[in-house]
Amino acid sequence: MEKRIVVLGGGESGVGAAVLAKTNGFDVFLSDKGLIKDEHKKVLSQYNIEFEEGKHSENLILNANEVIKSPGIPDHASIVIELKNREIRIISEIEFAGRYCPACKICITGSNGKTTTTSLIYFLLKNAGLNVGLAGNIGKSYALQVATEKFDYYVIELSSFQLDDMYEFKADIAILLNITPDHLDRYDYKLQNYVNSKFRITQNMRKEDCFIFCSDDEITMGHLQKIILKAQKLPFSQAEKFDQGAFVDGDNMITRYQDSEFAMLLDELSLSGRHNVYNSMAAAITGKVLDVSNNVIRQSLMGFVGVEHRLETVLKVRGITFINDSKATNVNSAWYALESVKSSVIWIAGGTDKGNDYSPLYNLVKEKVIIIICMGVDNKKIIESFTGKVSVIIETHSAKEAVEKAYELGEPGDTVLLSPACASFDLFENYEDRGRQFKEAVRNL
Ligand code: ADP
Repeated sequence: MEKRIVVLGGGESGVGAAVLAKTNGFDVFLSDKGLIKDEHKKVLSQYNIEFEEGKHSENLILNANEVIKSPGIPDHASIVIELKNREIRIISEIEFAGRYCPACKICITGSNGKTTTTSLIYFLLKNAGLNVGLAGNIGKSYALQVATEKFDYYVIELSSFQLDDMYEFKADIAILLNITPDHLDRYDYKLQNYVNSKFRITQNMRKEDCFIFCSDDEITMGHLQKIILKAQKLPFSQAEKFDQGAFVDGDNMITRYQDSEFAMLLDELSLSGRHNVYNSMAAAITGKVLDVSNNVIRQSLMGFVGVEHRLETVLKVRGITFINDSKATNVNSAWYALESVKSSVIWIAGGTDKGNDYSPLYNLVKEKVIIIICMGVDNKKIIESFTGKVSVIIETHSAKEAVEKAYELGEPGDTVLLSPACASFDLFENYEDRGRQFKEAVRNL
């Protein structure tokens, strides 16, 4: 009898996994407790895949040989508990697709910078003329591409939730950008659980594989000392220098791999900010490992235009620059955004608080921020945290109101930075919606 694969979740990754399973001859069933988008239903019908929505029917799910679970479904969901009680193996879409993918896999994880670095590396490898796909949380799912394309390389963004359900998967190049406490609610509020999850990106690696990581990141370094890793270690840092890896030397970024070196002026990097120096170093090392020429690496790091909602310069109006960094949903990413701005800042912050501790921002805020414009339903915590550190704190309750206030109070030469350090769900659908409403309001000034 055919092996039965049940897919939980009918989003991009679930539908892709179902298609890949079907094209490999499995008996496939997809179940989503919510509603499935029409475009996804169409694909399922096209491949003759049975599905249900609005419920999880146990009689159709608990007879699975293996279950592919969407990373959005938490472990405490009752269907997941039932599956675990029955010892039915649960894996992620990436784990499943990896089984059918002989391509070279470059995988990126970290608390911040994943999408930026994944997109940058993809851009670099495309410029190098490689036959490369982009996957993970970006665009089409990895599984769907494995089912329908034939790439030689994949650049894959991996969240810790995806890594949690990965076992046999092996990256050829694994990049861990940084680890700062985030999503701890999904990890029993234990940082170590979250760290273990991030480090799953290195599992199964062999000595011919490469692990690229940030040696300035204390949490990463602390864990690295405790584990045995066969892969070649290639660190990047803005504090120390290496024989192999990437570092900053004066105004230059230097990358060394085997006996070859690549040097580039920091000023030439198209992405600004200290955090993007890290992201660029990770990309440069990857380029060297894959034998991309120095010229192509340089052109790529100079020409990359960035990703929407990440330190995206929107417009300059009456000498005031407006920057959309709506994707900064935690304190750490807002720190890097504030750090990257050279002028006085009118900082638009706030939203759904995730238990934030704002103290790491105090010094930067005192130094650069002249006005804080709170943009959330409940702004109490921001106001309490920054009273006395900034002379003007104003409350607003929409992107339009926040932008108009900033414009009214701003002087030529100032920068208005939307970098909320919070989730967006109180006033917006998601961070993209927040960023778009911000940009729209700026364009309407
Ligand atoms: P992710 O996909 O991990 O959420 P993004 O590339 O979308 O990361 O960037 C999210 C936010 O984090 C952006 O606002 C950006 O300014 C900030 N950021 C980007 N790279 C880094 C980094 N290496 N370290 C810290 N913050 C970063």
